[in-house]
Amino acid sequence: MPIKILANEVVSKIAAGEVVERPASVAKELIENSLDAGAIQIAVEAQGGGVELIRVSDNGTGIPAPELELAFHRYATSKIGNLDDLEKISSLGFRGEALPSIAAVAEVEIFTQTSSEAAGSYLHLRKGEVVRRESRARPQGTTVTVHRLFRYFPARLKFLKSANTEGSHVAHLVSQYALAFPEVKFSLVLDKRQSLHTTGNGDLREVVSEIYGSELAQRMLKVEHNDILLKVGGLISPPSLARSNRNYLSFFVNRRWVRSPLLTRATEEAYRGLLMDGQHPIAVINISLPAQELDVNIHPAKAQIKFCQEQTVFANVKKAIEVALARTPIASQKAVPFSVSSGQWQSPRMIMDNEPAFVVAQLPTLELPLLRVLGQLANTYIIAEGPDGLYLIDQHAAHERILYDRISAQWAQKEVEVQGLLQPVTIELSPREEETLKASKELIAEFGFDIEPFGNRSYVIRAIPALMARANIIEITGVLLDGLASKESPTPWEEKIAQSLACHGAIRAGQQLSNEEMRELIKQLEQTKQPRTCPHGRPTMIHLTSHQLEKEFGRIT
Ligand code: ADP
Ligand code: MG
Repeated sequence: MPIKILANEVVSKIAAGEVVERPASVAKELIENSLDAGAIQIAVEAQGGGVELIRVSDNGTGIPAPELELAFHRYATSKIGNLDDLEKISSLGFRGEALPSIAAVAEVEIFTQTSSEAAGSYLHLRKGEVVRRESRARPQGTTVTVHRLFRYFPARLKFLKSANTEGSHVAHLVSQYALAFPEVKFSLVLDKRQSLHTTGNGDLREVVSEIYGSELAQRMLKVEHNDILLKVGGLISPPSLARSNRNYLSFFVNRRWVRSPLLTRATEEAYRGLLMDGQHPIAVINISLPAQELDVNIHPAKAQIKFCQEQTVFANVKKAIEVALARTPIASQKAVPFSVSSGQWQSPRMIMDNEPAFVVAQLPTLELPLLRVLGQLANTYIIAEGPDGLYLIDQHAAHERILYDRISAQWAQKEVEVQGLLQPVTIELSPREEETLKASKELIAEFGFDIEPFGNRSYVIRAIPALMARANIIEITGVLLDGLASKESPTPWEEKIAQSLACHGAIRAGQQLSNEEMRELIKQLEQTKQPRTCPHGRPTMIHLTSHQLEKEFGRIT
C-alpha cells in the first residue's frame, strides 16, 4: 500500500482508543470535567456495567451555548491556552480530547446551562455528528449521558469483561475520586441501585468510612508531613489491617488520581518488616507540590505522571508514612498516666476497646517500654511485666529480629564480625552450589564466610559471621548459597538472605533460658528498630494491657 494520510474518522478512532479503554475511562473523563468545572455535587449512574449507559451530572459552571459544539472538537479546551500553561497544569483535563473521543465511540447527549444564561442547551451526537440541538432550561450545571459505548467500535467491545466486572471498575473509579475530593458530594447508582454516597463535608475519614467501612476508617492513622518541596497527607492502615492485594492503595498528586510505581514502592518500603509476605497496606495518600515539579502529559489517560525530583518525593513519602506508623495508639498510651488501684484509666484512643482481650501487639513503635522478666513459659515464651500490663515474648521471633537488624547493619557498614572455627567444617556442594560459590566469591567473604576448595566438590568452612555462632554451620552455608543463587530475581535478595540467616541463627523454641539470658534478649530487642515484629512481619510479642486485665477480671466494665 502506498503511503497516505489516514482519514479523519480512522484517526479519531485510534486516538479515542487511547483515552477510552473501558466504561470506567468514560466515567473518569466526565468526572474530571465536572471537577474542573468546580462542581461540588457529582452524580454518576451506570447501567449494564457502563456499556449500556453512563451518566454524569454536576452542578459546575456549565458550558455557554455558543461553545458547546466546539467542546466536541479534537483539541478544543478552555483549560490551557499556550505552551507555558502546559508546564504548570492545575486542572485535571487539558488535552481537549475526552468529549470528542467519547463521541467517536458512543452516542452522546449533553445538557448544560451556565449561571448567566436564561436557557440551557442540549445536544445529541451520533458518530461524532450532531443529530439534534435544542434549547431547554435546567439548573446550572452539566449532564453528559453516554449510550452504548463502543457500539461503533466492535473490536474494543470484544475486550470488555462482564457487566459486573466493568461495573466494579466504575465503582472503584468513583470511589477514588470521592477519596481525592472529600469536599465534593458524590453519588453512584449502578443499575438503579445506590452503590456509593458521600456527604461532601470535607472529612477524608468519613469518605474512607463510606468506602471501606467505619471500623477500618476509625483505625486508620493520619499522615501529615511538610517538606520544602512537597506536602504529604492522608490516612494509612496500621499493620494489623493489611490486605492481600494492592487495590487499597490510592495516590493523588495535586488531587489527580495516579498510578505510580514510585509511590507504591515508597509506601511499601515504609511498612517493610511490619507486614507478612504478600500483605499490603491500605493507604490514601495526597501529595501536593508545585505544578512545575510534575509532568502529567505522558499518556492520554493522564493517570501516569513523572516527578522531576523522584528521589525527594520517594524519601518524603516514605518518611511521612514511617512517622505516622510510629505514632500509633499503643505508643501514645504510654504517655497517659493511669492507676490500677483507682481503676481510672484514661484512654487516649482506645482502638482496642471492641477487640478480644488477647490482642496481638502488632502495632509498631520505635521503642519498647522497660520490661521486667518474670519467667519463661513452655521454654518458648518470656513472660514480662511492663508499665502497662503483661507481655509474652516469643524468644525465637525476638532473637530473629535482633539478629536480622545486626546482620543488616553490619552488611550496610561492610563491617561483618567474623568468627574463625577452631574445627573447620567440610561440606560437599552440588554443581549448582559450586557455581554460585565461584560467582559470588567476594560477596561471600563480605558476608563473613570463609569457604575454600578442598578437592573435588568438597569445601572447608574456616570462618562464619560471629552472629551465627549458634547456628548449624552446614545449614547456614546452604542458606547463603541458596540466597545468592536467586540473586538475579527482583526481590530484595540481600534482605531474604539476612532473614534466613537470622532465622537459622536464632534461639529455638523449646530451649530453656536463664533469667540473665532473657534479660539480655529483651535488652537487645529494645535496641532494634521494630521490636514488635520479626523480620517476616510476625509479632514478637503479645501485650495484655492493664486495662484489658482489669476488664477480664471484672474490676471495670
Ligand atoms: P479537556 O477537559 O481536556 O479540556 P474535554 O474534551 O474533556 O477536554 O472537554 C472540553 C471542554 O468542554 C473543556 O475544556 C470544558 O471547557 C468543557 N466541559 C466539558 N465538560 C464540562 C463540564 N462538565 N462542565 C463544564 N464544562 C465542561
Ligand atoms: Mg476533560
